[in-house]
Amino acid sequence: MTARILVVDDLLVNVKLLEARLSAEYYDVLTAHSGQEALDICARERVDIVLLDVMMPGLDGFETCRRLKTDPATQHIPVIMVTALDQAADRVRCLEFGADDFLTKPVDDLALITRVRNLTRLKMLNDEMLMRASTRRSMGLVDQVALEAALQQSRGRIIVVDDHQRSASRLHEVLSVQHEVSVEAHADTANAKITEDRFDLAIVSMSLTGSDGMRLCSQLRTRENTRHLPIIMLVEPQNEARLLRGLDLGVTDYLIRPIDRQELLARVHTQIKRKRYSDYLRKRLESCFELSIMDPLTQLHNRRYLDSHLNTLVNEAKTNSRPLSVLMVDVDHFKAVNDTYGHDAGDVILRECGARLRQNTRGVDLAARVGGEEFVIVMPDTDRLRAAVIGERLRASIAEQPFRVNDDITLRITASVGLGSLDEADDTPETLLKRADKALYAAKRHGRNRVSADAA
Ligand code: GH3
Ligand code: MG
Ligand code: MG
Repeated sequence: MTARILVVDDLLVNVKLLEARLSAEYYDVLTAHSGQEALDICARERVDIVLLDVMMPGLDGFETCRRLKTDPATQHIPVIMVTALDQAADRVRCLEFGADDFLTKPVDDLALITRVRNLTRLKMLNDEMLMRASTRRSMGLVDQVALEAALQQSRGRIIVVDDHQRSASRLHEVLSVQHEVSVEAHADTANAKITEDRFDLAIVSMSLTGSDGMRLCSQLRTRENTRHLPIIMLVEPQNEARLLRGLDLGVTDYLIRPIDRQELLARVHTQIKRKRYSDYLRKRLESCFELSIMDPLTQLHNRRYLDSHLNTLVNEAKTNSRPLSVLMVDVDHFKAVNDTYGHDAGDVILRECGARLRQNTRGVDLAARVGGEEFVIVMPDTDRLRAAVIGERLRASIAEQPFRVNDDITLRITASVGLGSLDEADDTPETLLKRADKALYAAKRHGRNRVSADAA
């Protein structure tokens, strides 16, 4: 989906100019000739970014921006102010009225596209969040709180890579009012620091004398754990070639020296916010993923994961003619624990059982909780004899050490173990599990707290 940009200017020629440039980059362009018209369009249809002229008769750019930013229906739309006057005071006002960034007329092509691209990405992330938040609300799972907590953390960790003494200390001074700032003079030491520390943003000078800032950017972009780190590069004026090369490498944004304080703050604000959104999204994705395959009580895998993964393990074993064994572990008389000490005590026992099972199996073994007090361990490359030894070890790990429920209650618990091994060509995950289950039943029948192997 391409972004829809609303261009607002009272002069037709300016509108046409920006429209042509943005259309050439395949943006979908809407136009308005007054502040009021812009507000009407934003209220009526989807707009992803507003490019807003400051000087307009009637409702000027400042007031239009203020209204957009105070209306809950439009406040998420990023606004870029286009100012004719290259005056610091104007830029301060822009930010005060809620603008996200600004451009100076005559509008430079590269600046236009870079600003629009950055804010479009931020808007897309924001939309995705809003959508998720509302679907979640309708499902009764509000995690709005977590999102807001993440976004409120506006204090970012920034690394500035600049070896020009005065410039570096000025950046430090301006940014450290709100952020935590480290300064590095050399690209290599910065690289090392970024690798071992967690930063939200890197600001890299392209005119380092003893090292190569461009190379640092390229290294950061190619490395897995820094691929998503926003980078703002600092470039000397009239150095378009470097600028383009940097943007090609995936640098997120740039500032041209001498650095304007307001511009710096606006860019940094956008990048930190974007980082917060995407960190949050990634974390959510990971925890959803975990929820779908993990058992929350024991942190072992769940039945669903076992079902999907056992198939793969069985196929691999067959293809490579390797042995494979399965242990099914069921806690003995567990219902009595619940009945006597309560469900919470039962949960403590189950959690501890899970921990003991994991401690006594290898990393390649798949341990899952498949029912209330029932566990399955799948052991690749393990024949029946070896599996019987491990089964015995697991049984002992539960029976020998009493379980501490709380200061007053310590219980002796036992479990029965059934063993099934892969041994027939037409074995499937189901036949394998059935064999282990039959063996488990035998162990129960013969008095519990023991290991039984399938009869095959
Ligand atoms: P057996 O030795 O024959 O296996 O007897 P048992 O009591 O362990 O077996 P049964 O299948 O009769 O009872 C299992 C009990 O496990 C019943 C249920 O209350 C309890 N249970 C199932 N899931 C949970 C859980 O998540 N937490 C707790 N605390 N108890 C659970
Ligand atoms: Mg049981
Ligand atoms: Mg049971």
